[in-house]
Amino acid sequence: MIYQRSSALFTEAKKYIPGGVNSPVRAFKAVGGDPIFVKKAKGAYLYDEDGNKLIDYIASWGPLILGHAHEPVINAVVEKAQNGTSFGMPTEIETELAKLAISMVPNMDKIRFVNSGTEACMSAVRLARGFTGKDKIIKFAGCYHGHSDSFLIQAGSGAVTFGSPNSPGVTQGTAKDTLLADYNDLAGVKELVQANKGELAAIIIEPIAGNMGCIVPTEAFMKGLRELCTQEGILLIFDEVMTGFRLAKGGAQEVLNIKADIVTYGKVIGGGLPVGAFAARTEIMDFLAPDGPVYQAGTLSGNPLAMSAGLAMLTELNNNPEVFESLAKKAEYLHKGIAEVLTGKKIAHQINRYGSMISVHFTDEPVVDFASSAKGNNETFKKYFHGMLERGVYLPPSAFESYFLNDALSYEDLDATINALKEIDL
Ligand SMILES: *Cc1c(COP(=O)(O)O)cnc(C)c1O
Repeated sequence: MIYQRSSALFTEAKKYIPGGVNSPVRAFKAVGGDPIFVKKAKGAYLYDEDGNKLIDYIASWGPLILGHAHEPVINAVVEKAQNGTSFGMPTEIETELAKLAISMVPNMDKIRFVNSGTEACMSAVRLARGFTGKDKIIKFAGCYHGHSDSFLIQAGSGAVTFGSPNSPGVTQGTAKDTLLADYNDLAGVKELVQANKGELAAIIIEPIAGNMGCIVPTEAFMKGLRELCTQEGILLIFDEVMTGFRLAKGGAQEVLNIKADIVTYGKVIGGGLPVGAFAARTEIMDFLAPDGPVYQAGTLSGNPLAMSAGLAMLTELNNNPEVFESLAKKAEYLHKGIAEVLTGKKIAHQINRYGSMISVHFTDEPVVDFASSAKGNNETFKKYFHGMLERGVYLPPSAFESYFLNDALSYEDLDATINALKEIDL
């Protein structure tokens, strides 16, 4: 395939936009080469600026669970736009989406809309701190909760001390309130809680992780976290920006049968427009302004176009819940196909999967946390990524990212993907 025009557009973009992109992963730094510039997309396919057609396994990093340019969503947005795009005043559609979202997920009474997953997680933590009157939080290495300061933290010296910033610009003062634990390591979390007794507002986690590849928690780990939080008066925050409305109507809370205290959403809930949200029981949500003391706001929050896309998307999912099963079957088929080819080629690999999330790791060891995910062979991953791209298959350009299947993918697309892998020399 030829990527001349994409490369030229990237060169031009770099003159005016840092790194040529508005979100770093798009720049292909982890895999090398120039990123693809998209012209349009429909269903399971991307059409790039060079006229290539690609089978898409990212779906805008998750939102487009029913495929690109899904008609009910597009129609809702186009129709809504005729009546004005933003008012900074209440609109009925905000309540409609809130009501539908709350009806689909377990255990949530009220929801507040924001513009991104980042904002949702940042606000959820502020709310947890305000509600509990405590400052510290625990997050897990390899879990991503957006780019607000409190989450850009790496392990400090010694596991039970506080974290340190992993980006310049994050202050030590902020970093000291975020403690870092390892995914699937309940004993480590318990130690942290003991060492910081009475000081923790929240534990935030991706209930099925998707930002270090797809990692599934053990049942004992999740149950243990829930019990620990309840015992210690710590709020358990599920970051369902990725899993919400993707794994099931009720997201990870439903499939894991664990109730969180605050849940954050993004991606699917906006149907491809910028929407994030956070939800909790009334007692917690009423702590937010204007009823409560915790401040949180947004000029474009609850934007009518974004709400109409989200409402159309959730309505489709609510009316056709069999789509989750259909997606999981496709992921299983892809998993088997890829595993068979890699085994045939004698390439060490692990494939992690839950529902429509799947990731391929080039390592012998089970991938259960950030450290084991980081052991994947990135040279093999690069060959795999570029080999697939050359054959018209667009995978996430980083070994730390999960694939997000969309239901527009056909079994012919999955077969084409598996056949493409057969041709690649790893
Ligand atoms: C994508 C993501 C975020 C951040 O959402 P943005 O809309 O990119 O700000 C937060 N948490 C998780 C789990 C995500 O996957």
